[in-house]
Amino acid sequence: MPDERRVVVIGSGPAGAAAARELSQNGIPVTMLEAGSGFRRGLLVRVGGKNLYRRTPPLREEAQHSVSGDPRTQCYVKFALGGLSNNWTGAVPRFAPEDFSEGERLHERFRWPITYSDLAPYYEKVERSLQITADPRDVPQLPGGHVSYPNRIPKDWHDVERAANKYGQGFTTYPLVDGPPNMLVCRGTAFNSYTSIVRPLLSLPNFQLQTGAHALQLEWSPTKRKVDGVLYYSRHTGRIERLGASAFVIACGALGSAKLLHNSVSNDFPHGLGNSEGLLGRFLHDHPREWWSLQMNRPLRFLSPSAYLTRLPYDSSPPLLATSWTLGTASVQDQVRSRFGLKGTAVGVQVLGTMIPSETCVAKPSTVKKDEFGLPALDVCIHYSAAEVENVVRSRQHLMNLMDDAGCRATIGEIVPTLFPGTAAHYGGTARMHTKPEYGVTDAWNRVHGAPNVLVCDAACFTTAAEKNPTLTVMAIAARAATRLTHDLKHA
Ligand SMILES: Cc1cc2nc3c(=O)[nH]c(=O)nc-3n(C[C@H](O)[C@H](O)[C@H](O)COP(=O)(O)OP(=O)(O)OC[C@H]3O[C@@H](n4cnc5c(N)ncnc54)[C@H](O)[C@@H]3O)c2cc1C
Repeated sequence: MPDERRVVVIGSGPAGAAAARELSQNGIPVTMLEAGSGFRRGLLVRVGGKNLYRRTPPLREEAQHSVSGDPRTQCYVKFALGGLSNNWTGAVPRFAPEDFSEGERLHERFRWPITYSDLAPYYEKVERSLQITADPRDVPQLPGGHVSYPNRIPKDWHDVERAANKYGQGFTTYPLVDGPPNMLVCRGTAFNSYTSIVRPLLSLPNFQLQTGAHALQLEWSPTKRKVDGVLYYSRHTGRIERLGASAFVIACGALGSAKLLHNSVSNDFPHGLGNSEGLLGRFLHDHPREWWSLQMNRPLRFLSPSAYLTRLPYDSSPPLLATSWTLGTASVQDQVRSRFGLKGTAVGVQVLGTMIPSETCVAKPSTVKKDEFGLPALDVCIHYSAAEVENVVRSRQHLMNLMDDAGCRATIGEIVPTLFPGTAAHYGGTARMHTKPEYGVTDAWNRVHGAPNVLVCDAACFTTAAEKNPTLTVMAIAARAATRLTHDLKHA
């Protein structure tokens, strides 16, 4: 594919797939490098909108990162076509407009260089390809989006909705990439970025996929003042190969992208590409996450799909500290009962809290451990502050009070101990966006400050983390960055 506009996209997860689609469908030649060698099959059987059987491939910490913060930290990485979309749940709430601006209340470093309006057309575009089940209406702190399968919360939960509204919160169907009502597919999730996006691109003459291609280092050309190649280990040839291109889209997940940039040292970037200000890998964040069950004093319809209680209003919460609540079934038996429209008294609750991104949480090269290629392994140093843990713990009582106000007395049952980093698998922030290089690794178009033909398009670019699942926003940002790159390459 000898075209000087060629772009190399690294990673076939949702971020890489969204960027590659935008580029290749608009005529840009794309080569995608993916470390994984194949597609891990699963099985999903859905009838009448309910999952009868779901088997996902095993979830492992495949990247062998080291951990030096909270020793319980988990680093799930899937080196496979489709990345973590082989295992994800598919919850896709949009960020709200304030999620891009509320950090300014704390400090300028928390100001995103993009707004909700910048992203809205890309949210819409991505949503149209995801086959989402949701209630399309806006609710407080959660904008509605494009919905393929409308679904409202059951009527007997309307008192809870009214109580939520009194607190300024929304209570609605959890937006879920759930696919059509009837499905029999050899994957464990309704949407997988490989089968749903990347594989169809293979029919385009300008799109190539190289599997088993593990990117090791980006090569900086001091004369051209840009990156002009990537070195990768090919599992097919057993050799280190080089691929040149005009631009490089990094989408290895927030940890993998930080590692690749850290490993990309040169005379001009002795501490890693994009690390001139010492920010690369810093401001690492995840979602403090908790799962617990509650027992109600009267039965209500099982919530399947789950319901979503949105965060408290911005003006009544400390900046960047929030939680969201997802309410669903509490056991496999209740999941089965939900298929018959039955009622029950147990509810399973997942809480996602936020972290206030901090320089002390950092993904950095290990000084002692090497990876399989002899390069420094990534050391993941992250811990939740007392305030971040307390924020999640406090949210239990808030839901109890709200249920009480709705005339439904409830007590807390089992609390599963998951309040440590990595359990949500929502890492972000390691190459954060900011207009100013002193506060960010990338600019408003995901381009690395000082190396603008390298774009970091996964959640590494998040300036702050909302309490909402990240992947829809990741895909929308990746599509936006790729649209700009397409324009720039065509008009260079
Ligand atoms: C159990 C589970 C449930 C989840 N549920 C949700 C949910 O409901 N909603 C939500 O928004 N998110 C959810 N997530 C998180 C979601 O899966 C991730 O946000 C999403 O997959 C991130 O996409 P990505 O493309 O940035 O990274 P990934 O999906 O991690 O993809 C990265 C890709 O890059 C490849 N790669 C890495 N390093 C290299 C390299 N050096 N060279 C070449 N290729 C490389 C990997 O093999 C992989 O294919 C969940 C995650 C898990 C584990």
